[in-house]
Amino acid sequence: MAATKSNCLLAQGDALAPSIARAAEVIRAGGTVAVPTETVYGLAARADSDSAVAAIYRAKGRPDFNPLIVHVADLAQAARLAHIDTAARALATSFWPGPLTLVLPRRADAGLSAAVSAGLPTLALRVPAHPVIRALIAATGLPLAAPSANRSGAVSPTSAQHVVASLGDRVDLVLDGGDCASGIESTIVAVRQGGGWTTLRPGPITRAEIAALLGAAHEVRAGEAIEAPGQLTSHYAPGKPLRLNAPAPAADHFMIGFGAVPGDTTLSAAGDLAEAAARLYGCLHAGAASSKPRIAVAPVPDEGIGEAINDRLRRAAA
Ligand code: AMP
Ligand code: MG
Repeated sequence: MAATKSNCLLAQGDALAPSIARAAEVIRAGGTVAVPTETVYGLAARADSDSAVAAIYRAKGRPDFNPLIVHVADLAQAARLAHIDTAARALATSFWPGPLTLVLPRRADAGLSAAVSAGLPTLALRVPAHPVIRALIAATGLPLAAPSANRSGAVSPTSAQHVVASLGDRVDLVLDGGDCASGIESTIVAVRQGGGWTTLRPGPITRAEIAALLGAAHEVRAGEAIEAPGQLTSHYAPGKPLRLNAPAPAADHFMIGFGAVPGDTTLSAAGDLAEAAARLYGCLHAGAASSKPRIAVAPVPDEGIGEAINDRLRRAAA
């Protein structure tokens, strides 16, 4: 079902090209466009403009200490914005385009708004795989800052309807490209000088995949300072009490099942973790919209992408 808002355009099939052309005009003029990526919907604006980046923070009600991910077409465009060392190049070559964000030293001549980095000397960069955001980057020729397209602290959007429900008229244009395939935000890895690496946020690219490339021995634990506010304890909040690891449905709870544990809906009846990641936010949105006062979720194994699912669930419950 397409979202029925005047500022929402279909961005599939024959509608793709004209919708991208319209969206590129909005971006060039410094406006905001909600756009599907393979992870979740992003709220995009040109990353080289202070006022465009400010419009993202304003629309989301996002605290200004929480920096944004900048989306680019390829490694060459990334290299004009940040310093890419051997380890970063290895990750980019293996996982771009895809759901991996690299936090790298920002180039002094990057020409980006300082606000995208929230004052940090680093820059978070990603080359997305989804055809709609790729078409928008190509049409504008600009690096696009794009956090998730929801009110700050709320559940991330995996459909255009979620965006319209959360941001409505606070966004200039919404591109409806259907449901997001991955459904969970990108893995964020900070690449340190000297080959060390730190996972700032677990995601679809697993720690094991990163370790296979850079070496498990080079993993550095996250420091005391908050480097990725996605690490804040409370995030992704559905607006109702959320009970984790529920072994069975209980009265008063909207039950989200997994595997053999049934529910009002399920992350994956087959117990498939990739399917569970893709359905996670949709299930939380459904729980938030239901008449039941509480939400409960069945146990999800903490392996592979299950680590990212449990990370999001813990923060949603906090
Ligand atoms: P969102 O796109 O809303 O999922 O949020 C982007 C995530 O990237 C947040 O958790 C940010 O804290 C993180 N991030 C963006 N830039 C940086 C940076 N320079 N250093 C560390 N984390 C960053
Ligand atoms: Mg977010």
